[in-house]
Amino acid sequence: MTTSPVPSTHIDVRALFVHAHPDDEAITTGGTIAVLVAAGVDVRVVTCTLGEEGEVLGEEFAGLTSDRADQLGGYRIAELSAALRALGVDRPRFLGDAGRWRDSGMAGTPSADHPRAFVGSGRAAVEEMAGILDGWRPDLVVTYDPRGGYGHPDHVRAHEVVHAALGEAAHRPRRVAWTVTARSDVSLVHPGPPSHLRHALPDELPSVRDSRLTHRVPLDPSSYAAKLEALTGHATQLELVPGADGDPWFLALTNGVLQPVPLVEWYIASDLADPADPAGPYVRCAPGRSHLLDGLTEESR
Ligand SMILES: [Zn+2]
Repeated sequence: MTTSPVPSTHIDVRALFVHAHPDDEAITTGGTIAVLVAAGVDVRVVTCTLGEEGEVLGEEFAGLTSDRADQLGGYRIAELSAALRALGVDRPRFLGDAGRWRDSGMAGTPSADHPRAFVGSGRAAVEEMAGILDGWRPDLVVTYDPRGGYGHPDHVRAHEVVHAALGEAAHRPRRVAWTVTARSDVSLVHPGPPSHLRHALPDELPSVRDSRLTHRVPLDPSSYAAKLEALTGHATQLELVPGADGDPWFLALTNGVLQPVPLVEWYIASDLADPADPAGPYVRCAPGRSHLLDGLTEESR
């Protein structure tokens, strides 16, 4: 059953989104953040690195990359700030404060050996995350699945850190959700792609079978517009391509591969079980189409 939360000025729900790099919050969960903020949920976004190893679109800021001025991380704080403003979140927050951990780069690159690389963050990152859980006591925590969505080592590490911290913190959020891409969405094709971009090859874009999805957040027009505005904030990382009238927009990262900006964001969620449940503490929710806030808004904390 699908129900929509009734927008109000405030509901007593706190949602924590944990992301690896600036831009992930907008690409994967931007619409959800906008919907939750509009519903009165208190939303915070914690970003684990500054995305220092990212590539850059266009010439203007190309000199900032890690192999040149190595100033991209600081610049991306400004992009993240703009994106969060568009989504209705007050300011960026970082795991262990800004610059504590560094973008580890793509798998197999030497940047993973940097002393501050997030993949080597060890116990310290888990303790920081547990401190956030106990300090702010979120009802809902959103991060990546065990594969890190598309396999970036920092995304995998974000998943590991969140789940290790959940095992150590005194506070137990009521729901833990993994942001995922529905397989049915990646098959969407742009009717007239710009010549410098291309469609994805079969299986090039990571996705999960629709039958595994448990929760979703449909994006109303204003939340979808907020997501597009947030994506626009990450101009060094991606470009946006309008879709046909009423159809989803597309985005392309520096690899030039078009991917849809879906009208619905999907999740695989687990709920806090009854303390007596031997399968607990968290039990996977049944596959379905429930709203991500279902079950969280009607009970008081
Ligand atoms: Zn990322």
